[in-house]
Amino acid sequence: MRLSRYFLPVLKETPAEAQIVSHRYMLRAGMIKQASAGIYSWLPLGFRVLRKIENIVHEEQIRAGHIPMLMPTLQSADLWRESGRYDDYGEEMLRITDRHDRDMLYGPTNEELITDIFRSHVSSYRDLPLTLYHIQWKFRDEIRPRFGVMRGREFLMKDGYNFDLTKEDALHAYNRHLVSYLRTYERMGLQAIPMRADSGPIGGDDTHEFLVLADTGESEVFYDSQITELKFGDREIDYDDRAQCQAVLEEFTSRYARTDETHDEAVFNQIPEDRRRVARGIEVGQIFYFGTKYSEPMGATVQGPDGKAVPVHMGSHGIGVSRLVGAIIEASHDERGIIWPEGVTPFHVGLVNLKTGDAEADAACEAIYAALVGKGLEPLYDDTDERAGGKFATMDLIGLPWRITVGPRGLKNGVVELTSRRTGESEEMSPEAAVERVAQIYAPHMVRGI
Ligand code: ATP
Ligand code: MG
Repeated sequence: MRLSRYFLPVLKETPAEAQIVSHRYMLRAGMIKQASAGIYSWLPLGFRVLRKIENIVHEEQIRAGHIPMLMPTLQSADLWRESGRYDDYGEEMLRITDRHDRDMLYGPTNEELITDIFRSHVSSYRDLPLTLYHIQWKFRDEIRPRFGVMRGREFLMKDGYNFDLTKEDALHAYNRHLVSYLRTYERMGLQAIPMRADSGPIGGDDTHEFLVLADTGESEVFYDSQITELKFGDREIDYDDRAQCQAVLEEFTSRYARTDETHDEAVFNQIPEDRRRVARGIEVGQIFYFGTKYSEPMGATVQGPDGKAVPVHMGSHGIGVSRLVGAIIEASHDERGIIWPEGVTPFHVGLVNLKTGDAEADAACEAIYAALVGKGLEPLYDDTDERAGGKFATMDLIGLPWRITVGPRGLKNGVVELTSRRTGESEEMSPEAAVERVAQIYAPHMVRGI
């Protein structure tokens, strides 16, 4: 992409309404614009990050054997009356009446809709196990939308639902989700810690929330510092292997880590004092096992091996896709702007022409640009005639992890500069070497999506 033809409305001033750094930088970098309270337009740069996150989520869900689909945002109230949640949900649910006076709602979550799909099409245990998921906009009429996309009213969520014959099978689905989520967040450059949590209006007994530690987080968390040393890394996992998934769950949940809803001071105090941590965290996902809570009232049964109809065991599993954009910035920034992890950066590399209009500099930039694109990379080429200082400030603000700087002086010696946004370190090398290096850096981060 050439900056001269792009739409990147960066702001010089810090917007007064933004209280936390991710909200400030998202506005300043021209990623979002508020449409009304808690509802945002995703401008081109923000949209690219959102799509990168979505694609990582898709890849990891599909790897775990889960099946993508898409359900609508508007739902009929009748289904929610069947489960009993139409009255329970309260004012967070946006209720709508259509021209025929039918009660509709903008879905805050999809347990009812997916259970209806399931009961219409599945009747035998032979079709199980089954996990379906989608990435779709949700609406919750939050009483206090704030912090930009972190607590919106309209927000993008991945929500997945497992259907299993027995509790044991459903707990394996739970473990599978936990493992796939660990991989998902790490690919986004985040450490998200599974913590024991409360199930809220979804219902059920088993649930973990995934939290990213950050001072601006809305949840109070209590944990054993040893848990922050755990890494999933690039280990291979067989998602059908129950023992393997169970072992990962045990490894990542055996140390104390809880939100304030389930915190137990007495148990916490058994941890050696120097390892006890009280901090704040951003909830970026949650997994639930809730058994037959929806399948029973809604009649989602299958015929078991003995011919008897039994309600299926279910769970639901969410990732806050749009909230993640803010959470990643909270975890990765400095005083000059955002520092995107390679996995989610909107463009792979910034290409800065120090002297637009200089024939040699222009030609070198064009060649580098073409070479990057030829390698499947996505460069953002600043081909405008702004002065160098302004170009660097914009690149630092929007946070691309790598920058190639091209100027007449370097070109005389046959070199350009490759700079890391994270460390600030620069290295001179030939244009070909710079392209090769960037391609190598991104080789493990190329996202296919679906
Ligand atoms: P919270 O406790 O933050 O209100 P929740 O527990 O009600 O969230 P879930 O039903 O677990 O939310 O939804 C799954 C994920 O969707 C959450 O982990 C969170 O990352 C994201 N999410 C929930 N509500 C919002 C919101 N208002 N704005 C942005 N993301 C949200
Ligand atoms: Mg939650």
